[in-house]
Amino acid sequence: MRILIAEDDAVSRRLLEAKLVKWGYDVVVARTGDEAWAELRKEDAPRLAILDWMMPGIDGVTLCRKVRTEIWEPYTYIILLTALCRDEDLVTGMDAGADDYITKPFKANELRVRLRAGRRIIELQNELIEAREVLREQATHDPLTGLWNHGEILRILRSQLSRAEREGADVSVIMADLDHFKNVNDIHGHMAGDAVLRLTARRMLSQVRNYDYIGRYGGEEFMVVLPGCDLEKAGVLAERLCQCIGGESMDIPDGMVPVTISLGVVTTSKGKKYDTDTLVQAADLALYRAKENGRNRVEIVIWKDRVLG
Ligand code: GH3
Ligand code: MG
Ligand code: MG
Ligand code: MG
Repeated sequence: MRILIAEDDAVSRRLLEAKLVKWGYDVVVARTGDEAWAELRKEDAPRLAILDWMMPGIDGVTLCRKVRTEIWEPYTYIILLTALCRDEDLVTGMDAGADDYITKPFKANELRVRLRAGRRIIELQNELIEAREVLREQATHDPLTGLWNHGEILRILRSQLSRAEREGADVSVIMADLDHFKNVNDIHGHMAGDAVLRLTARRMLSQVRNYDYIGRYGGEEFMVVLPGCDLEKAGVLAERLCQCIGGESMDIPDGMVPVTISLGVVTTSKGKKYDTDTLVQAADLALYRAKENGRNRVEIVIWKDRVLG
């Protein structure tokens, strides 16, 4: 594990470094508080730090405070190294956010076991962060396709709408629904249907920009949110999406299955306020029209003073 030592005294620094290297640590050395701060701010900063209290520039206690207020995650486990050993000094150090302290001259065995405690804290935090990331992924993504799920794509639309309103930009929304998808299930089985849904997601993702969002809105229904995209561009993209699904049969374990999709497109008009419901309803109506007009096609919403045309 990597560990930072910040110590201005060359002799103590070398002694400490030699011990840590012997115990298997990968040591990063700082000679001043400022050097230590530069190391701790790096993306892959060491997670364990031994900071001398008295140093030129930023002292150990101030450094502790800075780490706790300015670096949120991941956690840095800090041991203060100090020649001061009055009770009130220790309280000051711990209050500043240190996890532990060692008084100079340090006893090697004592430091070794205290470091072990620090490593345990860091490993525990790593596990917590990992578990939280898994939960976050589960809470926001559709497990079958890996796309954003219903709740998340609506949240994304809401936040993009308020951003567009602030910046006077467009947002386009495409609602897309596979045609006669029930037949795929009926003829080829539910597993084949799932494979088609996965391929649909993959093909659609290959068509959009990396700042566009695609969600699985419901069973075989998808919603695409296009920030900064006007009606014309959204129409072109919807045609491309239609083509990327219907243009080529889907190669699934069951064989080649022809699939088509219908799409409804809507764009906000600049300077007007929209809520998600209005946009979703409008895109849904256009989608419904695409179904009525023969499927495997795109229909676009034209606003007429906020009345749908
Ligand atoms: P339309 O062109 O009018 O949209 O016809 P459709 O058959 O696609 O529409 P309908 O709403 O009648 O049927 C949708 C089907 O999608 C029914 C349902 O079983 C299937 N479906 C929904 N979610 C899943 C899923 O996760 N996996 C599979 N395999 N099928 C699903
Ligand atoms: Mg010092
Ligand atoms: Mg359908
Ligand atoms: Mg449907």
